[in-house]
Amino acid sequence: MSDHHYDVLILGSGAAGLTAAIYAARANLEPTLIHGMQPGGQMTITTDVENFPGFPEIIQGPWLMEQIQAQAEGVGTNMISDLIIEANLQKKPFKLTGDSGNTYTCNALIISTGAEAKWLGLDSELKYQGFGVSACATCDGFFYRGKQVAVVGGGNTAVEEAIYLTKHATKVMLIHRRNSLRAEKMLQKRLLANPKIEIIWDSALEEVMGKHEGPMPEVTGIRVRNIKTDNITEYSLEGVFIAIGHQPNTSIFVNQLKMDEEGYLITQPDSTATNIPGIFAAGDVQDNKFRQAVTAAGTGCMAALETEKYLANIVNQTTMAAQ
Ligand code: NDP
Repeated sequence: MSDHHYDVLILGSGAAGLTAAIYAARANLEPTLIHGMQPGGQMTITTDVENFPGFPEIIQGPWLMEQIQAQAEGVGTNMISDLIIEANLQKKPFKLTGDSGNTYTCNALIISTGAEAKWLGLDSELKYQGFGVSACATCDGFFYRGKQVAVVGGGNTAVEEAIYLTKHATKVMLIHRRNSLRAEKMLQKRLLANPKIEIIWDSALEEVMGKHEGPMPEVTGIRVRNIKTDNITEYSLEGVFIAIGHQPNTSIFVNQLKMDEEGYLITQPDSTATNIPGIFAAGDVQDNKFRQAVTAAGTGCMAALETEKYLANIVNQTTMAAQ
């Protein structure tokens, strides 16, 4: 166990955190970035990326994050791997505690802890998580080669996952609670044109069915309720992917930083400043609206520039007070 002090700490290594690191390093702030168990953030669990500017050909999400990380390290970012389990932001320096037992204090903090997949909250979903129920098609889709699967949700993630899963599965059911999709029109067009995909409209997943006869539990089917008629239908399949959106990773900041009702950190308009001077938030942790890699990178840049200004003001104030 050891204590470390830094001028600037960045928490989180997705597009926002790494971009903040690039800008902070180039401003000679010698940033240290702490990342947890999924370095690279949500982009590391996507596949094809077609909308990150600068890449006319389709690129892979994990590859893109490796490039941004290499760039951040190349300009002088110090990277630390530790899962931060506690934050004490009430007094300065701000203090973070990792599950390693190490503590990290800093004068300025950029929070870019991102968001993670939401679950429906069914007992059966929890029971088969990791044994046929997943929230990441690109991580687990390979296991369903030649099998049938379902995806729950109607947003971009659900539609992209359904299309991706057709590379492996023989049939993909998309179960959506309404009769129209939230996903972009271009994705909807691809979805509707894919003969392996069947959309089950106005429907909710009621139960994941399975058995536990072999060494591990396995999914054998689902029970789906039509919301309009209340009719229940059972389908036989081997995998269920939940793609119903995300929640921000802000639990360690509860009662310390201002959040909205969904837990997203609130930042000042046109700024990444939180309610505590010296703490800035960038990326999906403060963005409930756009949630794109490019917007996360943009707010990461803003956070670094605002951090530079904040630290320069402190130095100026200290110098003036000493005169
Ligand atoms: P969204 O919030 O966009 O969509 C969530 C979907 O899940 C909605 O269709 C919603 O239904 C449904 N849903 C939510 N809660 C439940 C529930 N309890 N039971 C059943 N269905 C539920 O999340 P996504 O993860 O799809 O996307 C998040 C953001 O990331 C978006 O801004 C999206 O544009 C972006 N994104 C962009 C990509 C790209 O540009 N390539 C790829 C993936 C994501 P309803 O529609 O009825 O509300």
